Amino acid sequence: MKAKTKKYELTLEHPFGLARSVSTTRTVVFSRLECNGLTGLGEAAPSRYYGETLEGVIESIERDAAEIREGDIFFVKDIMRRTIEKGLTTGSACAALDMAIYDLIGKTLNIPVYKLFGAKPREELLTSYTIGIDTVDIMLEKVEEAGEFPILKIKMGRDVNQDIEVIKEIRKMTDKIIRVDANGGWSFEEAKKCISILAELGVEYVEQPLDRGELKKNAELKHWSPLPIFLDEDVHTSKDIPQLAEVCDGVNIKLMKCGGITEALRMVELSRALGLQLMLGCMVESSLAITAGAQIATFFDYLDLDGNLLITNDPFDGVQTIRGNLKLPDRPGLGVVPKEELFDDAF
Ligand SMILES: [Mg+2]
Repeated sequence: MKAKTKKYELTLEHPFGLARSVSTTRTVVFSRLECNGLTGLGEAAPSRYYGETLEGVIESIERDAAEIREGDIFFVKDIMRRTIEKGLTTGSACAALDMAIYDLIGKTLNIPVYKLFGAKPREELLTSYTIGIDTVDIMLEKVEEAGEFPILKIKMGRDVNQDIEVIKEIRKMTDKIIRVDANGGWSFEEAKKCISILAELGVEYVEQPLDRGELKKNAELKHWSPLPIFLDEDVHTSKDIPQLAEVCDGVNIKLMKCGGITEALRMVELSRALGLQLMLGCMVESSLAITAGAQIATFFDYLDLDGNLLITNDPFDGVQTIRGNLKLPDRPGLGVVPKEELFDDAF
């Protein structure tokens, strides 16, 4: 099967500040597979933090797609296992292929992808809305702008004093559910100081308080912490899960880290068996990849699928987010439709 790929620069509505970085644009790669007259669409959001490059991702998608036979699309687990076993393909490139294959399966059967997994999506699939790190004033403005979203995810971890100041100010403004993501930006002592205050302010849980790899310290923090601790940067694929069962309360699974729906569902089963709570996250992505994630959202306790809401030039129509509630399209496959006016060629 031949894959067409296309780079696309997503423009962020606000500069997006995290503990490690600030960005105003993110470049993603769209992939398109043709099979029996149908089109399967996928998206990779490559991450330099996880060692990915745009060129590497494009090369992987084109090389791996060439080995897929049209008659084999229903055997997506076999395809993804072979792709991963070669050891050449990274998370987001795998995810782009995996979601394009699911799109083809759904379109071939003429059903939405979520109907393949044996669970009816909940009526309420509420996503959090992310507030990036900025000055306190700008962060408060963003909280104001997020008026219709019932759950906020506040980014922290660059400056512990500002983190405490900003969360106190936000709590004065709103009694919404608040989650916090430190992106590994705190030391052990800073984490204890912040989490004590976050607990008093009724924050729901804290994501990745300590740097990745600090598993022993994280286990210690978990046993002390009044709030549930979720890990994100320490969680990639199902291989990471068993060692995390005693280290945290929950894991943040993302299609771009794990390599797509196939692996994400394996992680769901394993995490549940080990008693871990589940969060489905995303990168800055268009509605294509967010809609792919939404197909399996019902298997998760907490959703953070707002990457498409942070950009101004989303080239796809897919999942609709209404006051934070995700509404899956009822179209076959992933159910995403390109907005032709935003593509300058016949991708
Ligand atoms: Mg995170």
